[in-house]
Amino acid sequence: MSDGIWIFAQQKNNKIANVTYELLNAARKLAESKSSEVTAVVFGSGIEDQAGDLFKYGADKVLYVDHADFANFIDDAYAAVLAHMIDDGKPEIVIGSATFYGKTLFSRLAARLQSGLAADCNGLALRDDGSLVATKPAFGGNVLLSIVYSDKRPQLATLRPKVMPEAERDDAKSGSVEKPDIPAELFESKIKVVGSSGGGGGEVSLNEADVIVSGGRGLKAPENFSLIKDLAGVLGGAVGASRAVVDADWIEYSHQVGQTGKTVNPKLYIACGISGAIQHLVGMQASGTIVAINRDKEAPIFKVATYGIVGDLFDVVPALTEKFKKELAG
Ligand SMILES: Cc1cc2nc3c(=O)[nH]c(=O)nc-3n(C[C@H](O)[C@H](O)[C@H](O)COP(=O)(O)OP(=O)(O)OC[C@H]3O[C@@H](n4cnc5c(N)ncnc54)[C@H](O)[C@@H]3O)c2cc1C
Repeated sequence: MSDGIWIFAQQKNNKIANVTYELLNAARKLAESKSSEVTAVVFGSGIEDQAGDLFKYGADKVLYVDHADFANFIDDAYAAVLAHMIDDGKPEIVIGSATFYGKTLFSRLAARLQSGLAADCNGLALRDDGSLVATKPAFGGNVLLSIVYSDKRPQLATLRPKVMPEAERDDAKSGSVEKPDIPAELFESKIKVVGSSGGGGGEVSLNEADVIVSGGRGLKAPENFSLIKDLAGVLGGAVGASRAVVDADWIEYSHQVGQTGKTVNPKLYIACGISGAIQHLVGMQASGTIVAINRDKEAPIFKVATYGIVGDLFDVVPALTEKFKKELAG
């Protein structure tokens, strides 16, 4: 049994996704305390150069499967090929990202390998004996679970995007990409991708955004989210929300930031009419600069804010939008 740590390097449209660098950072930290190797597994078509770049982000070894059909995510064939490689390489730990793709792939993988899976974790650590402990919120976020695995290997986990910073690039590092032999029948799939289109109607996604403007119950009514959207639009940012307004159906769940929503770490997070409940803070307090706008000077959001504006959001937010519009136009 090898003691290696593998990460599944997610790519989309044949471009390595940023979450891959977060996984490499997480795996590197585990590997250092265990003195073991980090292997990145990449599936794609004609992206050997990008696969080779993963050495610069901390991979000790890169296994690249090059196949015309693997430019796109095909869950059944991806799972079959990855399970085959795991049977061969016998890693101790395999980590993916808890994105839509990662969650789909790893649940199939766990079923194939008859192995346990800790899904959607927000922390990974090692016990003294070198085995994995995965942390994740459960029961609607009311408790934090520490998951340990039985003797069955590998230990599989998916890590929430944005809970780890990306690994830093070191151009001095390099290596040679290995291409494992995969039996042809494992590429057979019931799925044929005929095309893909981006969702979200052109909106900036929360996970990718450098700027997020979030609204809470202080907005008073769903139609007032237009204030948040206007400011986000001027800044080229994404729209976030507290759970209170998602539960009230003012905005879709995909915008929710927090323990039971998304974890984000943009360069700038502007919280408007959000009190700063702990469940909201855990999802955004790693942001670079936090600006809080609240008319209650005692609101807990000010404890994590870089800049606090005590005032009525109905005055402050439109004024900011106008100011940024002028500044950015000039
Ligand atoms: C298990 C569990 C999981 C949860 N998960 C999440 C989660 O993922 N994300 C999340 O956000 N919450 C989550 N919550 C809910 C959380 O506890 C809070 O209830 C929620 O974040 C409150 O949302 P809010 O700040 O919009 O509303 P409120 O707490 O009602 O705050 C509204 C704020 O607006 C201010 N305000 C009002 N009017 C104005 C105005 N005109 N101008 C300026 N400020 C104004 C008020 O002073 C107040 O501070 C969870 C709760 C539980 C129990």
